[in-house]
Amino acid sequence: MNEILKMSMNEMAEADFDCSCGRHHSLSIKKIAIGKGVIQQLPDIAAEFKGKQLYMISDNNTWKAAGEQAFKILSDSNFEVKSHQFETGTEILIPDELAMGRMLLEMPLGTALIVAVGSGTLNDMAKYLSSRTGIPYIIVCTAPSMDGYVADGAPLICNGRKISYVATLAYGVVGDTDIMKQAPMHMIHAGLGDVLGKLTALTDWSLAVAMIDEYRCETCVKLVEEALRKCIEFAPALKERNEEAILYLIEALTLTGVTMAIVGVSRPASGSEHLLSHYWEMDFIARHKYPELHGVKVGIATPIVAEIYQLLDDELPPETKALAPQREVVEALLESAGAMISPKEVGIDRDLFYRSLMEANTVRKRYSVFQYAKDKGRLEEIAGIITERIYGK
Ligand SMILES: [Zn+2]
Ligand SMILES: [Zn+2]
Repeated sequence: MNEILKMSMNEMAEADFDCSCGRHHSLSIKKIAIGKGVIQQLPDIAAEFKGKQLYMISDNNTWKAAGEQAFKILSDSNFEVKSHQFETGTEILIPDELAMGRMLLEMPLGTALIVAVGSGTLNDMAKYLSSRTGIPYIIVCTAPSMDGYVADGAPLICNGRKISYVATLAYGVVGDTDIMKQAPMHMIHAGLGDVLGKLTALTDWSLAVAMIDEYRCETCVKLVEEALRKCIEFAPALKERNEEAILYLIEALTLTGVTMAIVGVSRPASGSEHLLSHYWEMDFIARHKYPELHGVKVGIATPIVAEIYQLLDDELPPETKALAPQREVVEALLESAGAMISPKEVGIDRDLFYRSLMEANTVRKRYSVFQYAKDKGRLEEIAGIITERIYGK
């Protein structure tokens, strides 16, 4: 029982077990390869599709980072691959109707496997195409920037608005640390932010268990905690692109995705810090401003949520109190890696910041520390204290 706790990341593909939480868990991902040089395993990972048509998508940046190499490895092993590269110049690829349409138009007849080379955007686009066509996809990750490599939602832009479409999990995930350690430092910081967000996400989950008796899987909590511990220990080494630090970062991001997939809820990966991040993002998109990377915003939101817990310290359930991280500790971790910690640095002004604290509980219907503070009649006071600390009187 719970043998998943003894498995390495790469052994978790197709995990299928009865869990001590009382539920049966299974993971549909067939291949996980995380580590140094694992891009060389692509022919093995795609072996089932040999002799069939493969369709590779990348953009000019991810082609250089890993696409060219992946294409060569597969072609040298006699795979039939058609590659489409989005030409975005120095701009970033926007996953909207135009890009989605182009991706479909370029798809060769009889495609049996989609191979996406990239991070958030290309993964989301391939995931959507895969779910609507029933053709499996493999993601070759180019940056350890967020935890969506193992997730079944695909946020895309439709009619100028961001919509989270239900999609599918990947057939295979290939995370080569030799490639990911070369990612832009800003994306590495984003990945760290998304991982540190799990500190407050797990605290929120325990609060929801204590207050509204929500379901929780202790096995998943243990898995996330262990991955977090290793990632945090090596966080300061991220700025030197240390191999081990990058490995633990991508492992933590992948593993939280795995736990989300097996419990079928996003609790192990997302809590109040994600509500704040989403609130800011919706505001930025509505004003046609660049919304900043997901993980960067989550990283900034995490110490703020930690501070809310600190301010409520006198009335928290004991287990939640024990789990809640200290604001100063989270900030020090972000700073040690060189990541941003202030909402001001990403263009969040005082008004938006205060509003986000007051209204984050309306972003999603789920129990959070915002709801707890509101029910205790303390949300306004807390929002005032934190806004003043950051923006002055
Ligand atoms: Zn996230
Ligand atoms: Zn369980």
